[in-house]
Formats: sequence, structure tokens, C-alpha cells
Amino acid sequence: MPGINCPNCKKKVIYRNIKDMPHFPFCSERCKLFDLGAWLDERYRIEGPISPEALSRIEKKGGENG
Ligand SMILES: [Zn+2]
Repeated sequence: MPGINCPNCKKKVIYRNIKDMPHFPFCSERCKLFDLGAWLDERYRIEGPISPEALSRIEKKGGENG
């Protein structure tokens, strides 16, 4: 059976079918979201400090398109 190491928690994940891995290549939704959060954090850091105004804009956006 194929296996992967989750990029986030490095846990070894064995799967029978790629369809069994809705969060591939992550082991779970939590790891997937964690990675995405880290990526966004990195991106905003490159752009510079976040002003309170920008933050509220991001928060508003987050609720709409998921
Ligand atoms: Zn994981």
C-alpha cells in the first residue's frame, strides 16, 4: 500500500486509495488548515506589518468564499 509522510506533523499515513485521503497529502483537515495558515502568515509577513485596517478587511473576506 502506498504511504506518505504528512508534510505538517510528519506522521506516516498509509492509504489504500487516494480517494480515502480527502486531505491529501495531509493526514487530517487540521494539518491541512495548519499548513494553509502558516502559508498565509508567511505571505502577509512578506508584505509587511498588518495594520488594524488590513486585518479587519481580511477577517471580513474570510467569511464569504471560505
Ligand atoms: Zn498531519
